[in-house]
Amino acid sequence: SPKGACHINEVVESIVDVFSVQTAAREITLETDLGEGVPTVNGTCSILEQIISNLLMNAMDAVDPAEGRIVIQTRQEAPDTVRVRITDNGPGISKDDMEKIFDPFYTTKSVGAGTGLGLAVVYGLVEELGGRIDVESKAGASFTIRFPASADQ
Ligand code: ADP
Ligand code: MG
Repeated sequence: SPKGACHINEVVESIVDVFSVQTAAREITLETDLGEGVPTVNGTCSILEQIISNLLMNAMDAVDPAEGRIVIQTRQEAPDTVRVRITDNGPGISKDDMEKIFDPFYTTKSVGAGTGLGLAVVYGLVEELGGRIDVESKAGASFTIRFPASADQ
């Protein structure tokens, strides 16, 4: 697995910056809730960027079109675990879809709008960093990823 020490809060801030034009154009409120003293993640920042931006693009597609809202939260969950959670206020994910969303080419989007590869790629990259990903559907969808912290902080 790739070694590294990436400051997840810096990745989140740069992604929010990159996506700010698109979220503003679509009148989506994109908020961050960044934990203090979050340890570095054992991996390269480019992998973390790919994971978070894929989840963010899905959230942007899903949000309430009138009052879109997305929150990206980071926390130190345990001495050796960093948690990232992306929550949106879209329709959520049905029980049937839950079992398929990580399958390559599974999409509920119209032809041309989705390849169905985003979450399959995310799943592989999370595994590569020795992490795990969980999904919840309540008011909207919420994707939680737990990453091992770097050994050297
Ligand atoms: P794509 O975005 O190309 O459809 P993904 O692999 O990224 O492919 O996602 C697969 C499917 O998972 C989506 O088509 C959608 O049905 C569902 N999904 C992913 N993220 C969300 C979300 N935040 N809210 C609701 N559904 C979602
Ligand atoms: Mg996608």
